[in-house]
Amino acid sequence: MSKRDYYDVLGVEKGASKEEIKKSYRKLARKYHPDVNKADDAADKFKEAKEAYEVLGDDQKRAQYDQFGHAGASGQGFGGFGGGAQDFGGFGDIFDMFFGGGGRTRDPNAPQQGADLQYTMVLDFEEAIFGKETDITIPSEEECDTCNGSGAKPGTSKKTCSHCNGSGQLNQEQNTPFGRVVNRRVCHYCNGTGSIIPDKCNTCGGTGSVKKNKKIHINIPAGIDEGQQIRVTGKGEPGKNGGPAGDLYVVVQIRPHDFFIREGDHIFCELPLTITQAALGDEVEVPTVHGKVKLKVPAGTQTGKTFRLKGKGAPNVRGRGQGDQHIKVKVMTPTQLTDRQKELLREFNEIGGNESTDEQDENIFQRFKKAFKGD
Ligand SMILES: [Zn+2]
Ligand SMILES: [Zn+2]
Repeated sequence: MSKRDYYDVLGVEKGASKEEIKKSYRKLARKYHPDVNKADDAADKFKEAKEAYEVLGDDQKRAQYDQFGHAGASGQGFGGFGGGAQDFGGFGDIFDMFFGGGGRTRDPNAPQQGADLQYTMVLDFEEAIFGKETDITIPSEEECDTCNGSGAKPGTSKKTCSHCNGSGQLNQEQNTPFGRVVNRRVCHYCNGTGSIIPDKCNTCGGTGSVKKNKKIHINIPAGIDEGQQIRVTGKGEPGKNGGPAGDLYVVVQIRPHDFFIREGDHIFCELPLTITQAALGDEVEVPTVHGKVKLKVPAGTQTGKTFRLKGKGAPNVRGRGQGDQHIKVKVMTPTQLTDRQKELLREFNEIGGNESTDEQDENIFQRFKKAFKGD
């Protein structure tokens, strides 16, 4: 299932103004609101419009969407939009926003979107680079199978609340010095639903939902990075009264690697060289996540010199090419010399072997010598 373009969803041009986007969304929200529209696909259309508006109605998210679009496959939206997981209100909030005329109490029988769930997945360094398919198990509120979510014992049904006659509200009369005042209150016998369950389902105790562990297949795209999240649409908690389910957000954490450091799509590492390798040059094998690579180290290589292995980094998670591996040389000074080795090095020094012709290096030596001149 491919995701529709958010601009298409809202039926606006790419360059549409904020006002146009808002107007178009309000129109769609009114048309497809599940309280108003009883068509089977109304809830999905409403949710789709809401999602599109959440991105296009926000300058920063919109800019990001314009640049990257939806990434990821098979109905898994790739979340680059940052902590959006918490700000998804239920239908009731939207309803109040557009239809509310002050003091409207939330209808407990209205469709409500299920809660979003968040799951943290810890990946190995290589798993994040190459991607991974895996199943996860998460605890979730699910519809009770025994009563199909009604909360009533099989064979029995809900009854109209006799206290409020199904209105969900009670009138409370009060005598005041100004006369008789009638207050409307939510009926506490039925919690405003207008119906009661005389024979509660034994499995769920009348709530209509049970806690279950559910298994969900997750496809981690290659190149995912620390802190990025994958949204699995509709795998959050189920909605109430026919509302859509929430979404599942899988947030990725990556275990650090002993040798490699990742920065975006690039991988960095340090290459230790002996002073002879660095002075005489050598061909060395360098580990990469894609296997060993031979690297020619030229004679006279200095500490800090970097080499780049093109395409040996992480693939871009949005399919935009491949990073590189950057290798920084560190020349290791030997620490445990034998007498014979020391003798050779002294001789080496006496015949002037320690002079460097490396421009930068020579400058360092000159600046160092100059620093003593004032003494
Ligand atoms: Zn009642
Ligand atoms: Zn039940």
